[in-house]
Amino acid sequence: MTRILAITNQKGGVGKTTTSVNLAASLAASGKRILLVDLDPQANATMGSGTNKQTVKTTVYHVLLGDAAIQAARITGTQGKYDLIPANRDLAGAEVEMVDLPQREARLKTALEAIGHDYDYILIDCPPALNLLTLNGLCAAQAVMIPMQCEYYALEGLSDLVNTIKRVRHNFNPALRIEGLLRTMFDPRNILAQQVSDQLQKHFGDKVYRTVIPRNIRLAEAPGFGLPVLYHDAQSKGALAYLELAKEILDA
Ligand code: ATP
Ligand code: MG
Repeated sequence: MTRILAITNQKGGVGKTTTSVNLAASLAASGKRILLVDLDPQANATMGSGTNKQTVKTTVYHVLLGDAAIQAARITGTQGKYDLIPANRDLAGAEVEMVDLPQREARLKTALEAIGHDYDYILIDCPPALNLLTLNGLCAAQAVMIPMQCEYYALEGLSDLVNTIKRVRHNFNPALRIEGLLRTMFDPRNILAQQVSDQLQKHFGDKVYRTVIPRNIRLAEAPGFGLPVLYHDAQSKGALAYLELAKEILDA
């Protein structure tokens, strides 16, 4: 069965896109068939996968509005060995344009039904907002992965997100569950990060992935080459951490 994961956190810059791209590549490296959907008008996952957002023609925007079939937007065989539904800044307009369309929250879900059987995992990189785009991600997904930085305000934002997930479950997608919380950009020497991490484990128990993603410069550099870190520096701590995360998910 295809597993569809929304990678989401309304807080900006917590590592959603880095996780989407590198987990996609790591799962693909273990032979899984992977699709990555870029659901953010910033299009960082598109660029980080080696596709130019300035020149890409057919994107997730057209798919959501019903102007293109999802097959027409799909880019097969990126350098990370996964397929991609790209985005560009057009997507910023989709929110407003979708408002009057039927089933506006389920448009991605419906589109994915046409190609879902081609994949073992579909990862959806959500924008940093609890908006209609993110709602489409949460309605299409079976589970949510929440990347977070272990800092003071992280836990506060988390309760908003958990409430949103509850509401989506109640109104649209009863099967939606939290797959896991991922500690990103982790610095074990930072006492506050340790404390927040401890609190997180106390509250969420085994929902917190054992794998921790360290702060690693290679992870930050790789998007500049349009590559997942695995194909930029395979021995880096960042590459090894995302491989370990893929293994943790596959073994679960
Ligand atoms: P947004 O909310 O804007 O979509 P995001 O949650 O997708 O952001 P990223 O774009 O993945 O976050 O990461 C934010 C910045 O931090 C980027 O410059 C990225 O390269 C860097 N970064 C992410 N994870 C790491 C890491 N583990 N080590 C070092 N830098 C990282
Ligand atoms: Mg992002």
